[in-house]
Amino acid sequence: MTADNTTTAVEATDDHAHGEDDDDATCEYCGDRFPTEQLRDLHRGLEHYDVLDDDDRAAYEAAYEAETESLQSFRLRALAALVLLYFGFLMLYAVVGL
Ligand SMILES: [Zn+2]
Repeated sequence: MTADNTTTAVEATDDHAHGEDDDDATCEYCGDRFPTEQLRDLHRGLEHYDVLDDDDRAAYEAAYEAETESLQSFRLRALAALVLLYFGFLMLYAVVGL
């Protein structure tokens, strides 16, 4: 019956502004922040392509290529998972359904 209330459960968590330092992926044209520089480059290429310089356009092209490759990889993996799921259920039906 000893209800010792430790009031240190909720402490001051003031690390909410941990960004804005080294790896800051903020779009300098509209101020939007992004988790990675690749996403920032994709955004700049899609939204501000007419005002980009050559370096930023090259960064956009590289980010676009990387995004296309990862999307194709995801499609292949998703297709493989669907095929495995389909034949898994087919074999389960063949065994259990007898
Ligand atoms: Zn922007």
